[in-house]
Order: sequence, then structure tokens, then C-alpha cells
Amino acid sequence: MSDHKISADGLRIECHAAQNADCRTRPGCEAEGWGEEYCIGHDPGHPVAGGHECWQLAWVNNTSLEETYDGPGAPVTIYPGRAVRIVWNGYECTWDYKRRNANA
Ligand SMILES: [Zn+2]
Ligand SMILES: [Zn+2]
Repeated sequence: MSDHKISADGLRIECHAAQNADCRTRPGCEAEGWGEEYCIGHDPGHPVAGGHECWQLAWVNNTSLEETYDGPGAPVTIYPGRAVRIVWNGYECTWDYKRRNANA
């Protein structure tokens, strides 16, 4: 099963990742950055843990799927239900379709 896929209406990406997946692991506060164990910018830091809402969706669903797409063949064709891969590039998240035969 894929962690992230296009919603049935084709307007957004949905997250089906496990609670302990990277995209659902973050501190409980509103910090924008965090390390392996604690948030960045608070003292004492808030511990990083799984079970949160997917933090990647806020990025890729922020504007439109066309705008947050970063892959071959722009403008992108939206296929509802297709599995996608979300990539953090250091300052924002973008997405791309998973290759049909990829194992990842
Ligand atoms: Zn997710
Ligand atoms: Zn914090």
C-alpha cells in the first residue's frame, strides 16, 4: 500500500502512512524545524514523536497540485488514486508520481 496518493476528486494528496512514518513524526508544538529528537527553537525542546497528522500534506496541498508538482512532463496530468512520492527539498515539499514498477 502506498503512503500518499491523489484523492478521488483529484484536488489534493491523501496520507495513509503508518503512525510512525517520517511524515507523521514531528514535535507536538508548532515549531517549523526539528531534529531527530527535539524541536528546534524551544528550550526545553518538545520531543519528536509519531502519531501526528502528516506534516507534508500542508505543503503539497497548500496551493494546487499543479503548482507543487515537481517531476517530468509539466503541466502535470492528475490521476485520482495514483500513488505519489513527496520530497522535502530543504525549504518546501513537492511531489511526483511513483514509478509504476518501483518498489519504494
Ligand atoms: Zn504522510
Ligand atoms: Zn517546541
